[in-house]
Amino acid sequence: MDRIQQLVKDMLAGHRLSLARLISKVENRDNDVASILQSIYPHTGRAQVWGITGPPGAGKSTLVDRIAVHLRGLNKRVAIVAVDPSSPFSGGAILGDRIRMQQHSGDIGVYIRSLGTRGKHGGLSHATKEVVMVLDAAGFDVILVETAGVGQTELEILRLAQTVLVVLVPESGDSIQVMKAGLMEIADVFTVNKCDRPEADKLVRELVTMVGMGAHDEHSWMIPVKKTEALRDLGVAELIESINAHQEYLMHSGAREKKAREFLKNEVADILTERLSQTLMQAFETSSGKDLLEDLFMRRVDPYQAADIISNV
Ligand code: GDP
Repeated sequence: MDRIQQLVKDMLAGHRLSLARLISKVENRDNDVASILQSIYPHTGRAQVWGITGPPGAGKSTLVDRIAVHLRGLNKRVAIVAVDPSSPFSGGAILGDRIRMQQHSGDIGVYIRSLGTRGKHGGLSHATKEVVMVLDAAGFDVILVETAGVGQTELEILRLAQTVLVVLVPESGDSIQVMKAGLMEIADVFTVNKCDRPEADKLVRELVTMVGMGAHDEHSWMIPVKKTEALRDLGVAELIESINAHQEYLMHSGAREKKAREFLKNEVADILTERLSQTLMQAFETSSGKDLLEDLFMRRVDPYQAADIISNV
């Protein structure tokens, strides 16, 4: 058995350090990623993946921690992946993760991990997808993928979730802004958090109206609008019920399978894109590549011809 197979075997047996190592390798795009994926793949496909998004300060982290506690009460194993595309920090040992872990007081049924860009351009959504696959193989029942904000990268990352929860607060603006940010398209469940604030009900009413205006037939999912107060743990159990109802809807409508196929298609596309960009990075470094660049520069070869030449090697 080689090193990676051993690491995966230990991870499958519940060894936390092996899990953390495998995640780091995936995150850092280590050369072993392909063999890690090969070893874990047969063990994937079981977890529920919930995405949580919303503007900074909406209370996502607070809510996600509450959700995790509730799920633990239902005896579910929970992983939290906090993704912040703007953060250079990542890895299992950062302070924020430690503080959050303390709230779950060493509970081995909860695993928390932050992912940032670490100087990498793009590729974060690919890495996140594969980290989710590792956690799925590790046997977590629910994987909560929490994004820091609502930018393009975050929306891209959320495509990997089966159910997307959008967390809003009265300060984040009205329903028009929700539409503008593209949140309506990705939301499966809305919650207005900080409902201790007086303006919360107004936003709830607006969202209910907006959701009602969407196209519906008796088979389609009607996006619920919930109210939570994460700080005092109010409305969290009801919110989880709505998310569970969405998961059941996915199951019965066949949408879960469709999403799973889409996820895999995207994963293969990401692998190909990554390979291609590596090939491109190296293409002009070789001596024939340097000659090709010269031919391009001297107008002896056009860019399309150059692309053909590179893709045929
Ligand atoms: P995130 O940036 O969306 O992850 O937001 P955080 O979870 O870090 O919360 C931002 C701030 O809002 C923190 O100070 C929380 O304590 C606070 N907060 C979270 N939930 C509530 C709530 O239900 N009511 C009020 N008043 N504050 C909350």
